[in-house]
Amino acid sequence: MTAPIPALPAKIDPLVRAFLDTPGAVAAALDRFGSPVHLVFPQVYAENLGRFRGVLDRLLARHRICYAHKANQSRALVRTAARAGIAIDAASPQEVASAVAAGFGPRRIEVTGPKGEVFLRDLIDRGVTINVDNLWELARITELAGAHTKVPVLLRVSGFDSGQVSRFGVPIGHIERAFDLLSAHRDRITFLGFAFHLDSGDTNERIRAIDACLALVEQAYGYGLAPSVLNIGGGYRQVFTADADRFDGYVHALRESLLGRGEPMSWGSNTFGYHVTGGAVHGIPVFHKYANTIPATTMLADLCTAPLDRHGGRTVAEVASDNLLDVWLEPGKALLDHAGVTVAMVEFVKEVADGTVLVNLDLSRDAVTPADQEVMVDPVILPRHGDGAETSPVGVYFAGRLCLERDLITNHKVWLPARPRRGDLVVFPNTGAYHMDLSAATASMRPPPIKLAVAHRGGDFQVCLDADYEPDLPLGPPPHHTPPRRSPRIPTEAP
Ligand SMILES: *Cc1c(COP(=O)(O)O)cnc(C)c1O
Repeated sequence: MTAPIPALPAKIDPLVRAFLDTPGAVAAALDRFGSPVHLVFPQVYAENLGRFRGVLDRLLARHRICYAHKANQSRALVRTAARAGIAIDAASPQEVASAVAAGFGPRRIEVTGPKGEVFLRDLIDRGVTINVDNLWELARITELAGAHTKVPVLLRVSGFDSGQVSRFGVPIGHIERAFDLLSAHRDRITFLGFAFHLDSGDTNERIRAIDACLALVEQAYGYGLAPSVLNIGGGYRQVFTADADRFDGYVHALRESLLGRGEPMSWGSNTFGYHVTGGAVHGIPVFHKYANTIPATTMLADLCTAPLDRHGGRTVAEVASDNLLDVWLEPGKALLDHAGVTVAMVEFVKEVADGTVLVNLDLSRDAVTPADQEVMVDPVILPRHGDGAETSPVGVYFAGRLCLERDLITNHKVWLPARPRRGDLVVFPNTGAYHMDLSAATASMRPPPIKLAVAHRGGDFQVCLDADYEPDLPLGPPPHHTPPRRSPRIPTEAP
C-alpha cells in the first residue's frame, strides 16, 4: 500500500470555483489584460460582509463595521464596502483618499495607526474620527483643533496582559495622562471611547482586552468623560484549507522530512520557523494560520457571547448593551477571505543539479506572500493545451522572477497531478487578504501584477480592471442596524 500523496487542498468559494471551471474564462482574461494578474471577486466580499453583519445584527444591539483598508488596495472592494453602508479604517493619507473617492464621507472614516504631524493636520481638517495611537498625538490634536470644531477621537489602548508589549496604542499604565488631556480639552475633543486591535486570533486575549476597556469606561466617568464606543479591532481569522486532515498529513510528512525521513520536502535549508534539534521538530511554523478551521463568524459569535467574570457572567454583548456602548469592529482579512486569487503562467520547467523540478512562473514571491510567510495551499493548474499524455504525479517547487536564491514562490514541495508545461496557468487561491499587496515590491523594476475584478451577472462572468468596477448593490441609505436612540455625538452611518 502506498501512502497518499501529500496535498494541501485549498478551500475555494463556489463563485470563484465556477469562474475557474468556466472553459477558457481565465485564459481569456489573461489574453486580454496580460499575465500575471490578481483577481478580486467583490461579490464574495459582499457575501462575507453579509455573514459577518448577520452575526452582529443577531447578537449586538449597536455595532459598526470598519473595513480595514490596508488588507487590500483594491478600489472595487472599497467601493463595495462603501456601497454596502459600512465604515472604513484607513491608515495613511492614500487610504483616506481612496476611501473618499469610493464614496465614504468623513463620518464613516476612522483613521488608525501612528500618524505624524502633516497627516494629523489633514485629518482634523477633514473631520474624520481619529483613533489616537499615542500621547503625543493626543496632545497635538488638542493644540491643532480649532475652537469651533470638535475632533472625534478614539483612544487606542495596549498592554492588557502583563509582559505583553505593543508598538501601538497608549500603554494602559499611562492612561491617566490621556484622561487628563481629554478632560481638560472637552471643548476641542469629542471623546468617543476606547479602541484596541490584537494581532492574534486568541479569543481569550480579546475578552481580557474588552474587560480592561470596560473598566476604563467606568474610570473615564470619574473624569467627566462619557465614552460611548468600544472598538475591538480586527483579527477575525480565515479558513484556507478544504481538508484539515490532509493538511495535518502534509505537515506531518514535512516535519518527518526535516528529520531526514522520507522524501525531501523543503527547498534548501528551509525549516519554516521550526527548530530542528535533538532529533525532534519544535516550535510554531510561519504558516500556522493555514491550520485554522474556525470561521470568522464563529469566532465573532463566541466573542459576543463570552461571559465576563467581573460582570456576574453577563456576556460581552449584554454588558455592551447595558452600558449603551456602540461596538466597532475593524475586520480586514475576514471580509477578504476567498475574495481574491492570483493567476500566473508557466514560463518553463527546469531540473536542477539534484533532479529537483522547478516550475518557473512569470510571478515573484512577494506578489502572493505577505511578509515572510509560506503559502500552504496547493495552487490550481489550468492546462493551456488540454491534458497532456504524461499524467503521473510530480513533486515540484514553484520559482519566479526575483533573483535571490531564496526567492522561490514555494519553499515547500507541491505535488501536481502531472508535470506542467509552458503556457499552463497557475492559480494561487485565497490571496485577497494581504497576500497581494502587503509585501509587493518593485525591486526588479517590474510593476506588481494588475488587478482585475470578476463579477457574475446575468449568468455570465464579467471581467474588468479593478479601477473600473462598479458595484451593483443598491445605492441609497444604508440598511439600519443600530437603534435610533444612539447618542447624537456618535458619527452616524450616513455617507
Ligand atoms: C490591520 C489592522 C486591522 C485588520 O486586521 P485583520 O487581522 O485583517 O482583521 C484592524 N485594525 C487595525 C488597527 C489594523 O492595523
